[in-house]
Amino acid sequence: MSIPDTHHVIRFHETSESYDVLKYETVPTPTIDEDQILIKNKYAGINFIEKYFRIGLYPSQLPYTLGREAVGEIVKIGSNVKNYQIGDIIGYLSSQTFTQYTVINPTINFRILKISENKDSILQQFAGSLVQGLTALTFIEESYKVKKDDYILVHAAAGGVGLILTQLISKLGAHVIATASTDEKLNLAKLNGAEFLINSSNDDIVSKVLEFTNGKGVEASFDGVGKDTWDISLKSTARKGTIVSFGNASGAVPPVTISTLTPKNLKILRPTLFNYLTTLEEWDYYSTKLIKLIESNDLKIDISKIYELKDYPKAAKDLETRKTTGKLLLSIP
Ligand code: NDP
Repeated sequence: MSIPDTHHVIRFHETSESYDVLKYETVPTPTIDEDQILIKNKYAGINFIEKYFRIGLYPSQLPYTLGREAVGEIVKIGSNVKNYQIGDIIGYLSSQTFTQYTVINPTINFRILKISENKDSILQQFAGSLVQGLTALTFIEESYKVKKDDYILVHAAAGGVGLILTQLISKLGAHVIATASTDEKLNLAKLNGAEFLINSSNDDIVSKVLEFTNGKGVEASFDGVGKDTWDISLKSTARKGTIVSFGNASGAVPPVTISTLTPKNLKILRPTLFNYLTTLEEWDYYSTKLIKLIESNDLKIDISKIYELKDYPKAAKDLETRKTTGKLLLSIP
């Protein structure tokens, strides 16, 4: 495959709430050293975290190229690289994937999986499941180990992480109490295994949770909404329960006073996926689980829309204004 001198990327030169700072630009194609591989990306997954970088909630070096995951083909390989070949189809976690070409060093960034079937539908499932699937898998095992018969509150259950959490938790035999802002979204959560539904635009979430759990509350609340739902999670969680606060979709949770946990002996965590995937053993364990779930169809990634790379600003707006469900992908030319 001939590699062009320049390629297209999505990046920003200044942080802002405005989508206008997102630029589709042409820049020199990266080159590799003897320890690196060059990947021609085919699909990249879109995640809410991109907003946090764009608005400056998370620090970035400017200009900042977006993206955390992709699938693609290895098109160039350094002389020291073992275990990979030109033509291998891989899925991987890395920064800078909203690009036609990405460079990684597989010794330093080992978060790569080989995809045996080069079929579009399979590639999309992997592009759509690396960040969100592994987030759900690690969190339900390590942040709070979900058990059969648990009652678990999943906020924004029709979103990317939410739909996967809902499927995995219900398959473990636990009861998913799902929240979402519309009945359409709740219906989708139900189709993915949610047993109890709460419309967060109209219902009092805490009263509903207490009603569904006979006044006890949930064993755990998985909360990626953040600021708007922190208090709801606190009130909905049972004595000795766990709040897994893992995102800022509505804004960052303000500092918490530790004595807030005392009345119910609660546990709180603020985990991030990457701290569960820091060793090769952890990566192998969770990525193997993910591959099995996808190949056996036991986990279905709901790809709700695929945008062209150049249309990322539109995708970002759709996601951040709560218009979307499931997973969004970018198709890379
Ligand atoms: P989603 O597809 O879940 O989209 C976010 C959803 O949050 C919306 O659809 C909306 O659902 C809900 N929401 C509630 N309040 C707001 C608000 N004010 N603005 C926007 N959305 C709101 O996104 P992702 O699946 O990509 O991510 C979900 C969360 O998980 C994010 O906070 C993300 O940062 C976090 N995350 C954290 C990781 C980690 O390692 N800690 C890894 C991956 C994701 P509704 O309309 O139904 O309320």
